[in-house]
Amino acid sequence: MTLATIYTARLLYPGDAPPVEGGALLDLDGRITALGSLAELKKAYPTTKIVDFGEALMVPLLVNSHTHLELSDYRQWAEKAGESAVPDDFVDWILQLIRVKKTLHKNQYTHSLANGISQSVAAGTGAVGDIISQYPSRKAYQGSPLSGTLFLESLGQDPTVVCQRMNELNMLLTDTHTGPLQLGLSPHAPYSISAAYMTDIYQKCKKEDLRCMTHIAESPAEVEFIEASRGPLADKLYPKVGWEYLLPAASGCNPAGYLQGNGGLFSGHILVHGVQLTIPEIELIAANDCSLVLCPRSNERLQVGKAPVSELLKHGVKLAIGTDSLASNDSLSIWDEIAFAHHWFDGQLDAPTLFRMATLGGAEILGLQQQLGSLAVGKLSSFQVLRPDMPVTVAAINEYLIAPGRTAEIDQVYMQGRALLSGVH
Ligand SMILES: [Zn+2]
Repeated sequence: MTLATIYTARLLYPGDAPPVEGGALLDLDGRITALGSLAELKKAYPTTKIVDFGEALMVPLLVNSHTHLELSDYRQWAEKAGESAVPDDFVDWILQLIRVKKTLHKNQYTHSLANGISQSVAAGTGAVGDIISQYPSRKAYQGSPLSGTLFLESLGQDPTVVCQRMNELNMLLTDTHTGPLQLGLSPHAPYSISAAYMTDIYQKCKKEDLRCMTHIAESPAEVEFIEASRGPLADKLYPKVGWEYLLPAASGCNPAGYLQGNGGLFSGHILVHGVQLTIPEIELIAANDCSLVLCPRSNERLQVGKAPVSELLKHGVKLAIGTDSLASNDSLSIWDEIAFAHHWFDGQLDAPTLFRMATLGGAEILGLQQQLGSLAVGKLSSFQVLRPDMPVTVAAINEYLIAPGRTAEIDQVYMQGRALLSGVH
């Protein structure tokens, strides 16, 4: 038996088409099979059940293209570990993260990841590019409504450890217990993984068509380390983790050049941050069809700088947006991230660009554009219902979408025609 429902609200914004006053969609078994005005859909499907959200907006679910949901309990962990102070800089933040992680039992990550999944859904997120370092905690995704890619993170400079980790990765990639998420790989960052290990992972991703994600050009400390093998990462991080004898030779390269030298610039590779990218690096990234996820609130928190968005747009780099983890952010809401980004980049990312990065742009880099990213016939009946205090006009929709306060207005989240938030509808 098929189940059909017409969903309607005073304003429906498909994302990739203009807003429709009194817009409606027909959900049939979790897919959108018709889209138009309520009058049109009622005429075409006169006996179909109607759910009318009244003075609300229906908009697509958002895509959090870069996060680490396993760290969602970070604030509580840090408090318990007596590490509530805000670190002075990027490297101090990494050291704090390492100290806090040392106080944890492995099973705490599963709870934390489950918490992150719930917070994401409640914030209107339908898909994630999520990084996981504690692989067993991935079981939290079983039965989760989120889709996207779960990137298995790797790091390490010691060849013996690296070899063991590579074997573990090969085993894990045959695993299917990650709910609707696909598995991908993530060599953490150029400063935290040996060139040989990084190259192996990139080769594997290219050969087996696996999605790949790498943090790159996040901080001035990283740029200095990659080029000259010195600076606070060499002086403070390496001795702390026992890698002082494994310092790589100075490459003389910038981060993008270093990635290229290790086979890391290839079509579909998802880079994250890019705060310190120079124009020649942006040209290189664009020419090799890599995409970039911006995480502005995390960048602001860690004081690593501001991504060169005008240049990125000018060179046509595919952009998406992410919250990064709750170790460097206050919320997992992409609505909050968009509002911050608009202000932080001083309007250089306008509302349509930002909303696209948060929806279709994210869906495209995660390979989900046939399912999510906009409300269109053939895609999933996955959308959110926002209930603002004041009515939003068609003319004001752009301004509304990038203003602060949207997260609190989420009234309901539907995935494949199923309401996920309890207590309403
Ligand atoms: Zn990250």
